[in-house]
This record gives sequence, C-alpha cells and structure tokens, in this order.
Amino acid sequence: MSNYPVYGRIEGHMVMIGFGSIGKGTLPLIQRHFDYDADKFSVIDPNPDSKEFLLEQGITHHQVALTPDNYRQVLGDLFPDGKGFCVNLSVDTSSLDLMKFCREIGVLYIDTVVEPWAGFYFDTTDNADRTNYALRQAVRDEKTNNPNGVTAVSCCGANPGMVSWFVKEGLMILSRDLGRNDPVPTTREGWGKLMQNLGVKGVHIAERDTQARELPRPRDVFVNTWSVEGFIAEGFQPAELGWGTHETWMPEGANTYDKGCQAAIWLDRPGAATRVHTWCPTPGPQFGFLVTHNEAISIADYFTVGDPAAPDFRPTCHYAYHPCDDAVLSLHEMFGSGEQQKTHEILDVDEIVEGVDELGVLLYGHDKNAMWYGSRLSNEETKALAPYQNATGLQVTSAVLAGMVWALENPEAGIVETDEMDHARCLEVQKPYLGPVEAHYTDWTPLQDRWEHFPENLDESDPWQFRNVLAT
Ligand code: NAD
Repeated sequence: MSNYPVYGRIEGHMVMIGFGSIGKGTLPLIQRHFDYDADKFSVIDPNPDSKEFLLEQGITHHQVALTPDNYRQVLGDLFPDGKGFCVNLSVDTSSLDLMKFCREIGVLYIDTVVEPWAGFYFDTTDNADRTNYALRQAVRDEKTNNPNGVTAVSCCGANPGMVSWFVKEGLMILSRDLGRNDPVPTTREGWGKLMQNLGVKGVHIAERDTQARELPRPRDVFVNTWSVEGFIAEGFQPAELGWGTHETWMPEGANTYDKGCQAAIWLDRPGAATRVHTWCPTPGPQFGFLVTHNEAISIADYFTVGDPAAPDFRPTCHYAYHPCDDAVLSLHEMFGSGEQQKTHEILDVDEIVEGVDELGVLLYGHDKNAMWYGSRLSNEETKALAPYQNATGLQVTSAVLAGMVWALENPEAGIVETDEMDHARCLEVQKPYLGPVEAHYTDWTPLQDRWEHFPENLDESDPWQFRNVLAT
C-alpha cells in the first residue's frame, strides 16, 4: 500500500480524546486516509508526554482531563461551528455522555468501548452495575429513546468491533463450504436466521497474542501489548457471556437479567481469573480468559431469533483471550498478591522481537464442527504497514479507520454498534492493515484430550456445552 486511498473529507473540526497507545496509532491512519483542515485538528489528553510530538504534527494539544463537570464546555469550545468528528480513544471518560453531547451539537462520534467516568470500575459496589451489560444497555436505551440523527459509532475497535464483521463474513464462508450458498442477509432477523440455519451454536472471540520482547518480565511490573489500565479494569469486572439457547446447564454463581436485551449472563467472579478452553490456529487448543467484552453481549443480542425473553435461537458468545505471555504472568502475580503492580509497560513495536496477534471468531457447533476466521497479524508485518504501533494496536486502529469511513458515508444513522454496520465495506477498508485474514477448520472440541480425570464436570452428550468450555 503506497498510494493511500482518501476515503472522504471531514468538514469542520476534528478532536481526538485520549492520545495513548491507540490514539497515537490511529493518527497516521487519519492523516493518510482523510482530507481535513489540518489547523482544525486537536487532541485532548491530561498527559503532557505527547505535547511536543503533536506540535511537530501541527496538532494542538489541550492538556486537560475531561470530567462530568467540564466536558460540555471543553468539547463545545473545540467544535465552534457544530460540525466535525470526535474520535474518543481515552480511558476514564463516559462514552454515553460524550456521544450524547456530540449528537446534540451535530458532530460525528466514534469510540472503541463503552467507557465510564473515572472511578466506576473500582468504586461501584454492586457487581451487576459493574457489568458491560449495564454499560451497553444504557447506550442501547439512548438509541431507543433517541433513534436516528447524527451517527455515533459505539465500540468500533478490534474487539469489540472488527470481530462482529468477522462473524458475518465467517458465516458466509461457512455457508459456501457447507454447499448452501445462502444470499447475504440484509436484515438483523435474516442474519440471526442464517446463523441458526447453519447450525452454529456459539462463537468464541478466540485470541492468541504471541508478541514478546527479549527482556524477561521483571517482577512487580504489569506488561501488556495495549493499555494496562484498560486491561486491569475489564479483567476485574465480572465474567460475562452471551447465553445461547443450546445451553442446558448454568454455571455456579450465574446471574440472569429480566430487563434490557436479556442476551447475557454474568458470573460472580472476575473475568481475568476465569479460564475457558478454546482454539486458535497457531497454538491449537489453549486456555483463554473469559474477560467481559461488549461484543459478547452485542453479538448474542444481534443474532437472537424470536422474543428476547424466550428466543427460538441465540448463540453463546464470549471472549477467550490468551494475552501475550508477559500479561499472563502479570495477571498471575496481580491476583496472587492482591495488589496491582506499580509499574505498567506496553510492549513497544521496536522492542518486540517475535510474535503475532491472532484474533478471530471461532464459529462452533455446526456440521463442520468449528471454524476460526480472523486476522493473523505479526509485529514484523505491522512495522511495514503503519508507524507507532504493534500488531494488537493496528488491529484496533484500522477498525477505527473503517468505522470513521462508514460514519462519513452514513452520517445520519443514529447510534450504531458494529453488528449494525455494513461489514463488507468496513472490512474492505480495514483488510489492507490486517495481515493474513484466514479461515481455518478444526475437529477440536472442548471434550478432546481432557486429561483432568473429572468426568463429573463434563457433559459428553454435547461437546459444545459451556459446561465443557469452562475450565475446571
Ligand atoms: P492508554 O492507557 O494507552 O491511553 C488512554 C489515554 O487516555 C491516556 O493517554 C490518558 O492520559 C487519556 N485519558 C485518561 N483520562 C482522560 C480523561 N479524563 N480525558 C481525556 N483523556 C484521558 O489506552 P489505549 O491502549 O490507548 O486504549 C484506549 C481505549 O481504547 C481504552 O478505553 C481501551 O479499553 C480501548 N481499547 C479498545 C480496543 C478494542 O479492540 N475495542 C482495544 C484496545 C483498547
């Protein structure tokens, strides 16, 4: 890719909130792929570290933390003519409040997660209120109460985000390989019926990150390939999963909902201390952590067929994340000691000596057993594609790019999740940044090679019961 396509013009001002690992990686993609007035680009971030870098790029840095008290004033001043694009890539800011304000003043909006204001994750005492279900439902309620209007794209990173587009493309590949060749559905109901008719029982967002540096992880340092703060926050939230209609058993400590979309359950244990059996192309069978993620709920909700309270079909859906080995050790140390490490490090693209972020969707339970479809982007390839980021970062930032393109092309779509966007258009924009995007079939099931010798914990009548997926 040397002739970068310019996808459209951003009229008015552009404001990026948060200039951490994802913000810095998104910047060059915006610079390459959009036409905009350079003097109208600014960044809001309380951290002064990037001030000089931004200055060199001709971008104004506003060194301020957005809070519930100041966000209307700060953002209002930066969008004086009520036109433009707000790209929210921060932690500790309320996605819901920011998206509502942007829509109110006529500005396009995108984020990568439903983020709450600072303090929410650790100060909220009721676990049900700390779930992604609760955070997401508030955004869905806003969509119901105020449909239409200026586009605000919710949760458009790699996951949540890109993986929802992979589910749809994966279903079409499966349809072809099963000899059915279904037409591409055009409605939510159509997609739900397609998944049901293909016999898919569930979806793992199955990820294996093998990126590593030479230096062994020092003790008392949390090392990750993206925001440590972000990962710890979500890792301490309760484990959550979209709960499918084929499930016959409920895990201990499971909680259901009688309000909202009702597509998910949450468990009274932290996601980053909850292991599941899953499968990715490089390692084959592996453990993943059942960390809560918006897409586990949105995908289960989107593909529901029938009454949400008593559906005819719904897939089970959850994250099964094997982060880089240093992050696994960091989690082990943190949960064991009961204390967060004081030092946080994000593996930099130039110190990483090997590895791939393999991130895809494992569609399981159908006649071909299971198919993983996703991106196998290496850090080495990432270096050639875009600056300032590792493979994990580029999978996220290229999804932000695709979401921005879609928003510009659909500026009056209201609040949308990635499940509700044109997956083919978004992947068309994103794929040049994803390395190999491949489908892999496997005959592995969670019952295969179980050597723990505790058969009473298993359900041998159906390998794809969550009972078999949850590690003992
Ligand atoms: P980071 O910690 O590197 O950067 C976050 C930035 O936000 C920091 O520079 C920080 O100073 C800034 N910030 C903190 N409080 C702020 C406030 N009140 N107002 C404005 N800025 C503030 O994190 P990151 O790795 O860049 O991740 C950014 C966001 O993207 C996180 O919410 C993370 O969960 C999300 N994310 C999503 C995906 C996905 O695939 N959907 C993947 C990675 C990260």
